[in-house]
Parts: sequence; structure tokens; C-alpha cells
Amino acid sequence: VIGLTGGIGSGKSTVSQFFQQCGAVVIDADKIAHQIYEHHPELVETLFKKFGDGIGDSQSKKIDRSRLAAIIFADEAKRKELEALTHPLIRNDIQMQIEKAHRLKAPLVLVDAALLVETGYYQTFDGLIVVKSEQEQQIFRIKNRDGLPPEEILQRIAAQMPLSEKLKVADWVIDNSGEVLETKKQVEKIFKELINQKT
Ligand code: ATP
Repeated sequence: VIGLTGGIGSGKSTVSQFFQQCGAVVIDADKIAHQIYEHHPELVETLFKKFGDGIGDSQSKKIDRSRLAAIIFADEAKRKELEALTHPLIRNDIQMQIEKAHRLKAPLVLVDAALLVETGYYQTFDGLIVVKSEQEQQIFRIKNRDGLPPEEILQRIAAQMPLSEKLKVADWVIDNSGEVLETKKQVEKIFKELINQKT
């Protein structure tokens, strides 16, 4: 079980897709994070109480993730509070999916998550891959993908640990500052190395 992390918009999903094509099972923490609001109505209740009705539609108790993100990325205390409430639930789901992948005899399990180093969670895995891109590329790609203004993207980058710190604890680094085909080649090389280590 290997962790996969990197800054926002660095290319984690792109790298994950290539690993999937190689035969790895990828667990997407962001996808799990999307679903926990549906699975845990008590959490949604708590969030409306703590952060107010501005985080979504209080009538139907639906959270608007982009509104919630705008609030918590502008206030570190709120962000930490949200993380403390959601991370244990997300980890629990990740653990269940890891066990399922083991039962299905997956050759490699990859946990794709943005905050693996910040939370220390990476230490529970057998290794860590860090994806890197230039900061200008992160901003350009997220702007194109999500239409977020550069100031908000910078705010989100600032909320994460600097890339240099993540690289220090990486077992493998994937450089996604070039063409996607170059990234794919790096993935295939690491996949082969990991599979050979096991056999
Ligand atoms: P997030 O942190 O938001 O989950 P991410 O780290 O998973 O993002 P991706 O979604 O893989 O990053 O990439 C961000 C955007 O940049 C996507 O639209 C993707 O198609 C594009 N992209 C990724 N890698 C490259 C590349 N090497 N060249 C050009 N565009 C790329």
C-alpha cells in the first residue's frame, strides 16, 4: 500500500489514472471526502451549526463544497476544525477500501490524498510517492480546470505544506512538469519496480 500525494493541481489524479491503467487499485481520498456528507448526516448537522447557513442549503441540509471551501481556506482555525471532524471518517473509509483491495488480491494499492504528509498519515503506508509540478503550472492548470481566481489558488497552496518538505519524505518523486506522456513513463517504471519488490 503506497501513498500518493503532492500539491493541489500537481497532477495526482493524472498519475493515479496511469497507475490504474497498470493494474493498481487507486483509493481516491477526495472522492471519499465528497461522499462522507451523504453517509454522515450527523456530520452535516454539526457543520451547519459550527460554520453557519452560508455553507450550503440549510433547508435541504445540503453542503455546497465550493462555499465551504471558500470559508475554510480563508480561516485557518475553521479549516483545522473541519479537518478534525472529517479526517477520522475519511481514514476509516480508506481503511475499509484497502481491506477490500487486499481481499481482491490487488497487485498494488495506491492511496491518493492531498494531506498525507501534513497529517503524518503517510507513515502508515509501505511507501510514499510525491508528484511535483512548478507552482505556475499548478495555478495555470487549476485555473483552466476549475475557473478559480489565482488569489484563491495561492491561498489553497499556502494552506498546504511546501513541496520541498514533502519531497524530503518521498520514496519516489514523479515530475509532472512536462508532457503527460513523460509522466506516464515514470509511472510505469515505478509500478514495475514495486511489483518486482513484492515477488
Ligand atoms: P487536485 O489537487 O485538485 O485534486 P490533482 O493534483 O489531482 O488536482 P490533476 O487533476 O491530475 O491534479 O491535474 C490538474 C489539471 O492539470 C487537470 O485538468 C489535468 O488534466 C491537467 N494536467 C495534469 N498534468 C498535466 C500535464 N503534465 N500537462 C498538462 N496538463 C496537465
